[in-house]
Amino acid sequence: MSAFEAVIGLEVHAQLLTRTKLFCGCPNRFGAEPNTHVCPVCLGLPGSLPAINAEAVRLALLAALALDCRVQQKSQFARKQYFYPDLPKGYQISQFEEPYCLKGKLKIEVDGGEREIGITRIHMEEDAGKSMHGVGGDSLVDLNRAGTPLIEIVSEPELSSSGEAAAYLRELRNILIFLGVNDGNLEEGSFRCDANVSIRPRGSRTLGTRTELKNLNSFRFVQRAIDEEIARQTAVVSSGGKVTQETRSFDPDTNTTRSLRSKEESHDYRYFPDPDLPPLVLSESRVKEAREALPELPRALRERWVRDFKLSEQAAQTLSSHPAYARFFAECLELGGAPAKLANWILTEVLRGVTQRGLDVEFLVSPQQVTDTLALVESGEISGKQAKELHAALEGTQKSAAEVVSEKGMRQVSDTGALQGIVDAVLARSEKQVEQYRSGKTGVLGFFVGQVMKETRGQANPKLVSELLEKALSGDGDE
Ligand code: ADP
Ligand code: MG
Ligand code: ZN
Repeated sequence: MSAFEAVIGLEVHAQLLTRTKLFCGCPNRFGAEPNTHVCPVCLGLPGSLPAINAEAVRLALLAALALDCRVQQKSQFARKQYFYPDLPKGYQISQFEEPYCLKGKLKIEVDGGEREIGITRIHMEEDAGKSMHGVGGDSLVDLNRAGTPLIEIVSEPELSSSGEAAAYLRELRNILIFLGVNDGNLEEGSFRCDANVSIRPRGSRTLGTRTELKNLNSFRFVQRAIDEEIARQTAVVSSGGKVTQETRSFDPDTNTTRSLRSKEESHDYRYFPDPDLPPLVLSESRVKEAREALPELPRALRERWVRDFKLSEQAAQTLSSHPAYARFFAECLELGGAPAKLANWILTEVLRGVTQRGLDVEFLVSPQQVTDTLALVESGEISGKQAKELHAALEGTQKSAAEVVSEKGMRQVSDTGALQGIVDAVLARSEKQVEQYRSGKTGVLGFFVGQVMKETRGQANPKLVSELLEKALSGDGDE
């Protein structure tokens, strides 16, 4: 065990899924031709004035409530001044001393246990544009993203490993996706994370000097970068050195971080309240309305499903990992069927065929097709094996399960007369196994069932086959 322990605090920037930008009417959309979604406000032209987007406020409020934050009735936008080519105004509109909410918490699951991580604050801010380097030897700027709405969610320095950091991020991302607040896309940068890392002697209460890691655009990179940084700081301190407070960038190719710049302090930004924007007032009724609009969150769904439907943690976890999965499951439940069987079927068959892009999920079958398929198994009309075949045939079609079953002549043979002949034939040609069975090795029953299923090309009702076999083998079997 290392003599040091790690301390990690995360800052997450999440883009709000609004139609328009935070302070102007330009579309908030990823992937358009560069500089086509711009106007005097987001270009920072003199004389233009910002006006707050009410939908952005609504989404930010949902996130605050879902994370158990204390909403500030009155908050203030501030100007954060720095110079960078992708920041047309020369300042970013953000919230500094008076963010719209404080003091939340997020429960995470780690190694079978549970921990509650404090959330220091969430504030609203606008995003910057994007610099594109090395375009024909030049650097170009795309301002489509300038002025798009973000919330920044700042955690307390309470995480103690890269695994906990990843668990925190997964849970947070999951919640934001569920709220329809954010699409959770790390690669496209709509959900971005900076990790602050320090080490201290194990058991110490004081915080060590931290570094801030950037460019972590996948969960894997977050974990690798944190582990690397803990190892690097441990080596520095162990050899008598001191960690320098700085911002470091993770390079996934070499699996190392390198120094970008010394860490700026907040006074470097010369924050002051933005005189163009009035304080943001969140009335009690507005907060109440948002609270009532909160959907059931993934954690609550998981707990309910495990408790009421006896789903495994793993199954509940996967089904609650996307609102579209949860909705699909819920719709199936409404149509009827055993919850655990439905869940299992969705996990093993349905999810294999989905395509997912952010909040959009495309299913190849409908809840109705799924519940009909399982009902056919339940009533004994088709076997489990045939159900899989049926499922595959339904994918991408509007056909009903009954239609496909009759098209394919997919009836399960539950006719005792028809099966009895096959059972007798199988037993007659398997003297050795019959001997074994009668001498007590009843496990060979499976062998007989398999033989009968083969003869019927999988169409026999396995339950009925077992019954017929057991009867034939037990009593009047002595020919
Ligand atoms: P900024 O990085 O913008 O200056 P803050 O001072 O609010 O902002 O800190 C940002 C993050 O750094 C928070 O998530 C906080 O938990 C974390 N943090 C602060 N001090 C430490 C530390 N010594 N070790 C690890 N994380 C830290
Ligand atoms: Mg920071
Ligand atoms: Zn604009």
